[in-house]
Amino acid sequence: MTDKSRYILTDEEIPTSWYNIVPDLPSPPPPPLHPATHEPIGPDDLAPLFPMDLIAQEVSTERYIPIPDEVLDVYRLWRATPLHRARRLEKELGTPARIYYKYEGVSPAGSHKPNTAVPQAYYNAKAGVEKLTTETGAGQWGTALAFAASQFGIECEVWQVRASYDQKPYRRAMMQAFGATVHPSPSEVTEFGRKILSEDPDSPGSLGIAISEAVEMAAADPSVRYALGSVLNHVLLHQTVIGEEALLQMAQAGDTPDVIVGCTGGGSNFGGLAFPFLREKLAGNNDVTIKAVEPKSCPSLTKGTYTYDFGDTAGMTPLVKMHTLGHDFIPDPIHAGGLRYHGMSPLLSHIYELGLIEAQAIGQTDCFAAGVQFARTEGIVPAPEPTHALAAAVDEALRCRETGEEKVILTALCGHGMLDMAAYDAYFAGELRDHEYPEEAIAEAMTRVPEL
Ligand SMILES: *Cc1c(COP(=O)(O)O)cnc(C)c1O
Repeated sequence: MTDKSRYILTDEEIPTSWYNIVPDLPSPPPPPLHPATHEPIGPDDLAPLFPMDLIAQEVSTERYIPIPDEVLDVYRLWRATPLHRARRLEKELGTPARIYYKYEGVSPAGSHKPNTAVPQAYYNAKAGVEKLTTETGAGQWGTALAFAASQFGIECEVWQVRASYDQKPYRRAMMQAFGATVHPSPSEVTEFGRKILSEDPDSPGSLGIAISEAVEMAAADPSVRYALGSVLNHVLLHQTVIGEEALLQMAQAGDTPDVIVGCTGGGSNFGGLAFPFLREKLAGNNDVTIKAVEPKSCPSLTKGTYTYDFGDTAGMTPLVKMHTLGHDFIPDPIHAGGLRYHGMSPLLSHIYELGLIEAQAIGQTDCFAAGVQFARTEGIVPAPEPTHALAAAVDEALRCRETGEEKVILTALCGHGMLDMAAYDAYFAGELRDHEYPEEAIAEAMTRVPEL
């Protein structure tokens, strides 16, 4: 038993409910506001974008929400995902710490994103929606939604951030393999895309711009809805299947985490892993320290302002209270494309303000160094995003080497990097640099955050 390094669950052990952390928090997160009236929005305001089942989950105060059988059937294609103990990495680091990682790279898209893409496609199909539009940064979310839409017989149209569209042709091809239509963003297809292109024909795009394009298309056609791959409450809710499984697997391993680290773009893989453990902490069953790790060039939690801002660049979405760098701030084109978002999940932002989690920012060269060390010991090339979490886990393990503490560290290895090898190429060629903290650009963008 003692040298076991992989913990698996049977089909019967896959959790059958998602966990909603809201009723367990000391106070609820502040409500989203209507972009024009600044009054709290109601379900009807969201109806042009999302089906009612998802809106109900977005505002739910139920602690547990059953996972529909149709969704569980698709989950079983790759769930439960394995929990690994990183014994070879531990040995390489010479640490007394025990490092565990929950590996989401075994999914059809190669990341955690299908955990929410599948229920989102399911509820939309159930409501009679014919097509879903979305944005994608690194290409992971677009791939996941393309896969999920194909499972439920609906169409999928994706706006892929230009920088990633050019850097990652295989992500585009994968979305097409699952049947999706893919546009580079900004595109000529939408009014907002044309506006951006007229101002800057070489715009590398951003997640915020791509969201505006996808929302514009969905809002214009009643048979089309929009799907978001992170940030929203229902997305974090769906991702809790990761943490519920990990709780069972950590129990199998006979360990309780002292530290959980995860990378945060919009907060969904991190929240998904952490929330079930945070529930146990709030109930007095563990004393885990939970830490979000973000890129230094897009540090929304560590440097952002906690205020109401738009989720997209054009200002079409409701105003949500979150840690933001300004809705028209365009982050440097780092390779962890999935972490280049100006804001943070409002739920996670609220939990951070409550002091229930910590945050740290790391530069991309340190992250790639940890990614390579991980690949050479554990045999999985991580996506650039989770190398942020790995860098923090390695730091913690090295601290344990100094102090002799036998801490238990748990992290989310939320995706593999097999379609991100151009980024590793750049790292090996010495071409990656750590962008300076873009203080002025952020201060500039913050002047356009709406005043309430
Ligand atoms: C999308 C993505 C992220 C960032 O999104 P979160 O909602 O913060 O999880 C991180 N890692 C991978 C592999 C992704 O695909």
